[in-house]
Amino acid sequence: MVEQYLAAPAIATTAAGQTAPIQVGVLGFGGLGQAASRVLAQKQEMRWVAAADQQGFVYNATGLNADACITTYRDRGSLGYLAAGGSLSPDSIAALIAQAPTVEGYFLALPNLPNTFMASVAQQFIQAGWRGVLVDAMKRTSAVEQLLDLADDLRSAGITYMTGCGATPGLLTAAAALAAQSYAEVHQVKITFGVGIANWEAYRATVREDIGHLPGYSVEQARQMTDAEVAALLDRTNGILTLENMEHADDIMLELAGICGRDRVTVGGVVDTRNPKKPLSTNVQVTGRTFEGKISTHTFTLGDETSMAANVCGPAFGYLKAGIQLHRRGIHGLFTAAEVMPQFVR
Ligand code: NAD
Repeated sequence: MVEQYLAAPAIATTAAGQTAPIQVGVLGFGGLGQAASRVLAQKQEMRWVAAADQQGFVYNATGLNADACITTYRDRGSLGYLAAGGSLSPDSIAALIAQAPTVEGYFLALPNLPNTFMASVAQQFIQAGWRGVLVDAMKRTSAVEQLLDLADDLRSAGITYMTGCGATPGLLTAAAALAAQSYAEVHQVKITFGVGIANWEAYRATVREDIGHLPGYSVEQARQMTDAEVAALLDRTNGILTLENMEHADDIMLELAGICGRDRVTVGGVVDTRNPKKPLSTNVQVTGRTFEGKISTHTFTLGDETSMAANVCGPAFGYLKAGIQLHRRGIHGLFTAAEVMPQFVR
């Protein structure tokens, strides 16, 4: 048994010798939150027991049904209307934290609008005296920097916080950290993503935050745009958003991991909001010099059939499992996707 070599068991076992599933929650129940519930429905090591949206929350320690939750959210606008365990609340995250004592870890599938929102949610968990694991899939460098400022507070609160754990930042940043091992010096990390979604309304926050990266737009402007204004912008571009030199936290994460300076990391991509087919293959190219003086490039390309949801939610729960292992060994504070290996969730 591998477990006997660990300081403390990563996954608890019951008296009967069976592995007890980790009780997890999802905050935000839009595109990614709903996809997360479907991902969890196929897992044995994690049990989805809690979720919140802007108007309400649901908690049931014996497990939630993804289909029932998605139907209620779509038809009525909030999980709070669910008969079993649902409650409406104007302050749904605080209410859920107070009423869901069994949750060990949350995936924060929330919009980071304004750009300080996720850091304020982390502070809410600290102030509530909650202990456990939090995972986000935040994108902006300046947003991850706010979490860095909270690292000491998270550590003393007994929270293990994994930041930048989606696709990019996340899966691709981790791939870059791995690819860097062949080199004595890393010259460039170039991330290029292709995203295809059938309609923008399925991922409103993702699309708004991407608009905030377009020349002439800020996060605040994108946040204040009405749905009609977003639709009008997408009409003008035929549903395509082309993004270059984005402010993406892959740069600070690779710098913090000691791999290369942030000025050597670039992120850009194309989002098609009217077609689930990817407009280009998502990839990361890592160029460097080997110890023999050769210059080379490693390329890691994601399969075109993998959706944004698969490439964000899979890593998010992989990092949640890794975070649980750290937490159970008393290791708290802030970690990024570039410094910890995600664990595969069975
Ligand atoms: P969405 O707009 O589809 O859904 C947002 C959800 O959050 C909704 O259910 C809404 O009710 C809820 N919400 C909003 N404010 C809330 C509050 N105060 N309390 C509780 N719930 C609240 O969002 P999405 O498109 O799924 O995106 C979620 C986040 O994921 C975005 O920040 C996006 O940038 C990020 N993302 C990251 C990556 C990556 O690779 N790192 C990829 C895609 C998306």
